[in-house]
Amino acid sequence: MVAVWSEASVEELGFTELRQSVTTDVVVIGGGITGLTTALQLAEQGRDVVVLEADRVGQSNTGNSTGNLYSTVAKGLEPIRRKWGDEVVRDLVRARASAVDHMESLNDRLGMDCQFARMPLYRVQLNDDPKRTQSLEQEVDALRAAGLAPQEVSGSLFGLTIKHGLKLDNQAQLNPLRFTQELARAATAAGAQIYENSGVVEISYRENRVKTASAEVHASHIVHATHTPKGIDVLQTGMMPSREYGVSARVRSGTETPEGVVWVIDAFHSLRSYHYNGNDYVMVVGEDHKGGEGTHGKGYFDKLEQYLSAHYDIGPVRHRWSAQQFSSPDGLPFIGRMHGKDNAYVATGFAADGLVWGTLAGLILCDMITDRPNEWGKLFDARRFTPVKSLKGVAEEGAKVTKDLVKDYLSPDRVKDLDKVEPGEGRVLTHEGEKLAVYRDPSGTCTAVSAICPHMKCVVHFNGADTSWDCPCHGSRFRIDGSVIEGPALSGLTPKLGARDTGFSSSEHTE
Ligand SMILES: Cc1cc2nc3c(=O)[nH]c(=O)nc-3n(C[C@H](O)[C@H](O)[C@H](O)COP(=O)(O)OP(=O)(O)OC[C@H]3O[C@@H](n4cnc5c(N)ncnc54)[C@H](O)[C@@H]3O)c2cc1C
Repeated sequence: MVAVWSEASVEELGFTELRQSVTTDVVVIGGGITGLTTALQLAEQGRDVVVLEADRVGQSNTGNSTGNLYSTVAKGLEPIRRKWGDEVVRDLVRARASAVDHMESLNDRLGMDCQFARMPLYRVQLNDDPKRTQSLEQEVDALRAAGLAPQEVSGSLFGLTIKHGLKLDNQAQLNPLRFTQELARAATAAGAQIYENSGVVEISYRENRVKTASAEVHASHIVHATHTPKGIDVLQTGMMPSREYGVSARVRSGTETPEGVVWVIDAFHSLRSYHYNGNDYVMVVGEDHKGGEGTHGKGYFDKLEQYLSAHYDIGPVRHRWSAQQFSSPDGLPFIGRMHGKDNAYVATGFAADGLVWGTLAGLILCDMITDRPNEWGKLFDARRFTPVKSLKGVAEEGAKVTKDLVKDYLSPDRVKDLDKVEPGEGRVLTHEGEKLAVYRDPSGTCTAVSAICPHMKCVVHFNGADTSWDCPCHGSRFRIDGSVIEGPALSGLTPKLGARDTGFSSSEHTE
């Protein structure tokens, strides 16, 4: 499962695994847009930087995003305006616009081949639903209060019949995977050391040290650019993980495609086109659900494919992908020093807007580490305390985590043995009092790992769309063999080899 951006991917960047221990000024954990923007900024300021990426740079959530850049936010400014007021939405829009400008200037200065283009953004409604029309009107007010100039649109536009809609000029789009790979190249040229396949498995803030499986990095500053901080951190309280899916196909010649960022609010779908190497692609992203929830996942891609073919004359779907997001309880991202740790920094809570937040985070974190003032540092401070603005989010997410914990530990057993796990399916079974996550591959072989997430002991759920085990509590995700894909967990699900290929008697509990 890869996103359409892989069409323009640089296959060989030449980054190796960290094999020898090193000492540096700053270690950046994570090679997505946040980590690499931070690394490039710091390297250009003359700091020694080491980036440790668990997998390949840019291939995680950044490389599975939609590549849209905008000064507003996808869920709309109105909910943020209600919580924080006009001044904050004005500042938010200025901060985000400055980050998009920064990306454009990098693209120009470094001659990046990432298909950056200024484009309009549309938020449109296709059906007559008075509630949605009202929310669109409120959004127009919020955008104006933030200093933007939305225009009204309706009628026939890029294959859609729009009842009501707004348009914002001068937003942007790019290929996010290619942009991140170009950031990595530029950071290396500026002196940063980047290591791939070098996941961090242990962090000691007291000793200023992070460990991978084969070596250590000693650094005065430790940056968590891992989308959500690794290990247990207070910011995970109330942070909501969710997953979203995308599909794309080439359009047949003569088909009108959406030119710009297009958000269809009826069933929240995001549409855009991508033109590369003489091919014209159209894509749709949507069908979001809370992480670790949802069904076994298979229906999401079909629904998106049907949506695409209902609106566009497409060939076969060539790319399917998914990605995760983390939404903060008070609506703003957390960027800055971690609670209780003056030498460690975090950037998280980006919701579906993290290409721009990640870029802004890179700029803010670089200024913090090099002791320079930053206009936006205070607003997005990771140590801010906003109990009233966070109350609903923290209460809802806290209740959900508690519910998941209790339900998953206590729910009655239903299936009595391993034979009930169909090929291509995963189930959580109880065997001799232990909860096991059991997956049967299409050839019939079973793999069993502990179903208990090592982060905070929640029970993982099977994700059929990605063939992974996902934790519903704080968004950790694991491969079938138990190794960590993403999220706060530093270690994987313990392999239970005794269960492989055996026919132990067991009882299912949640799936
Ligand atoms: C479907 C979807 C579409 C989106 N589209 C957009 C969009 O159009 N515009 C927008 O602005 N935002 C969008 N977003 C949000 C955006 O994709 C993310 O917020 C952003 O990519 C986060 O970047 P990041 O660098 O912080 O995290 P990531 O890209 O996830 O990078 C984190 C990196 O850390 C690495 N890592 C994790 N653990 C370790 C470890 N232990 N050791 C070393 N490395 C580790 C991972 O492998 C990964 O490469 C979208 C989100 C979704 C879900």
